[in-house]
Amino acid sequence: MSKLRLAVIGAGPAGIYASDLIIKAQRDFDVSIDLFDLLPAPYGLVRYGVAPDHPRIKGIIKALYEVLDRGDIRFFGNVQYGTDIKLSDLKKHYNAVIFATGAIKDADLNIPGIDLDGSYGAADFVNWYDAHPDFPLTWPLNAKQIAVIGNGNVALDVARMLIKLPDDLLSTDIPEHVYEGLKSSPVTDVHVFGRRGPAQVKFSPLELREALHVNGVQAIVDPADFQFDQGSQDAIDSNNQIRVMVKTLEDLKENPQQAQERRLHLHFFHSPLEVIGEDGKVSAIKFERTKLDGTGNVVGTGEVVEYPVQAVYRAVGYFGSELDQIPFDSKAGVISNEEGRVLDESGKHIPGVYCTGWIKRGPVGLIGHTKADAIETISHLIEDRASWWNPEQPDESAIVETLSSRGVEFIDWSQWLRIDAQERKLGEGEGRERIKLFDRNQMLKVSKG
Ligand SMILES: Cc1cc2nc3c(=O)[nH]c(=O)nc-3n(C[C@H](O)[C@H](O)[C@H](O)COP(=O)(O)OP(=O)(O)OC[C@H]3O[C@@H](n4cnc5c(N)ncnc54)[C@H](O)[C@@H]3O)c2cc1C
Repeated sequence: MSKLRLAVIGAGPAGIYASDLIIKAQRDFDVSIDLFDLLPAPYGLVRYGVAPDHPRIKGIIKALYEVLDRGDIRFFGNVQYGTDIKLSDLKKHYNAVIFATGAIKDADLNIPGIDLDGSYGAADFVNWYDAHPDFPLTWPLNAKQIAVIGNGNVALDVARMLIKLPDDLLSTDIPEHVYEGLKSSPVTDVHVFGRRGPAQVKFSPLELREALHVNGVQAIVDPADFQFDQGSQDAIDSNNQIRVMVKTLEDLKENPQQAQERRLHLHFFHSPLEVIGEDGKVSAIKFERTKLDGTGNVVGTGEVVEYPVQAVYRAVGYFGSELDQIPFDSKAGVISNEEGRVLDESGKHIPGVYCTGWIKRGPVGLIGHTKADAIETISHLIEDRASWWNPEQPDESAIVETLSSRGVEFIDWSQWLRIDAQERKLGEGEGRERIKLFDRNQMLKVSKG
């Protein structure tokens, strides 16, 4: 065989890195890659997850752009695996497929009241403020006091976006409706709750420091929440990031900030028990206080506390979605796999089928981690050369004909560049790098020039 025709499903960082790495890998065959995404835009959660006020991280898009702009990877946006193309199509046109479909949904939090009006998943809010084309344009921002459950970076992003002065977002890529929505919010207090202590947070030091220094917002911690056990001390001694974050939090405890009209409270040792409602709407949230058990884990104390809030956001993790005809581990929310080789029910590798990124190892870790993932997956793909599919129609024009014959309005790279240019043009008028387009039909229209 002289050529690998490879389909990659998902144009987030995992799919783009995997495509780039296989092109650069040492190999004795040619490669031709088609990269599909259900969205009319590439970059996955870098565009639709990373917060708009994180331009440094959004800057990773430049590196991803450079990969796709080289011209040796074909982009097919607005093409959904499972509806627009099926596994049988892939087998007909390619030697193998890598699924890099990431995660977009919230993990569940099973406590009473979680379905009340005013209780939201962080992912839905993120999709709104990041202008994902498949989510509603309006978001109910009418709560003065808000609870955010979770102690990871997504919880901090959500809390920061909720409490930040909206005018401080005017330099970002948020569209007008997001700015107007945030501006209408009467919020005064956002409370972030973690089940464990300051030495067990899953934040990263930069995100934490940023959240504690938001313009016009007083950050507050409770001195009673500063408890450490042997497990905590071990974490502080062995993990530089934890050491830095504990110090950051202790500095805040020792040096309370000046009072402001908006406040961000960080609470520790609170395990959520119930969201309480009045007339079907969130009116409070109840927690059991926890304490350390010596190992850095926590146990309940039996003490119950309640906070009046009118909205609750759960930021307890993302969760992958099952894909048509691909074995799924519904407990972990990932494709069943071993080091990126997709496995059938009996644990045997399904020839030709691979996965990488968040859908492979679960929704944890930063963009950079998806590169290590991709290296592992593509090294197996190359090793497995003998078991690749033998496609009937490997010709590069054949998939284009298949999609066109079905009326799939796919967007190629040059058409995406038109959308990109339009976003930049919209931004230019206001001295911003870009303003995002958010309507799929409009994006398709712009793509056609
Ligand atoms: C709210 C939030 C904030 C974050 N902030 C940061 C940060 O500041 N810094 C950092 O380093 N990391 C951050 N991350 C983590 C980072 O976004 C992930 O590590 C990374 O995006 C995972 O890459 P991925 O390619 O596996 O998945 P994704 O980025 O989710 O990409 C998956 C792609 O697959 C597409 N897709 C899904 N299903 C289909 C289908 N059926 N057919 C076709 N296409 C499909 C999706 O549209 C998407 O484009 C953040 C994550 C979240 C959720």
